[in-house]
Amino acid sequence: MKKATLVALKKSIKKWEKVVDGSGEDDGSENCALCKRFDAETCVLYGEQCPIRKKTRRKGCAGTPFITWQNHQDYDHEESFPYAIQLGCKKCVVLAKKELNFLKSLLPFKRKRIEVRVFHQKEPFDLVIKFIGEDGKWNS
Ligand SMILES: [Zn+2]
Repeated sequence: MKKATLVALKKSIKKWEKVVDGSGEDDGSENCALCKRFDAETCVLYGEQCPIRKKTRRKGCAGTPFITWQNHQDYDHEESFPYAIQLGCKKCVVLAKKELNFLKSLLPFKRKRIEVRVFHQKEPFDLVIKFIGEDGKWNS
């Protein structure tokens, strides 16, 4: 994934985190960093596909949780853009979270750098291997 695409994906994830926690709204492609980067019709930019299209092999977020969210807003709440979680509606929260998790699933796998140190302690032979955990601390 190109760096600029990753930046856009992360921005889009941020947007949905805000939708989920109620501090932001979904204005469709108007406030989607991926839609801004890629062509709105084809979801392609110079031969590179939007990571969503790459995943679904379809355009315009077809086949993603976004469509369910949009239908819920349109038909159950009779809302139009911008969408936001409707007060007291659990379905809104569930659907927004699904979209957020879907976007997060598109993030490239990040390889963790693990440092290992081998200690020779007492004789005759006592091998101690320690590694740095996710918390950045040395663990045995
Ligand atoms: Zn709702």
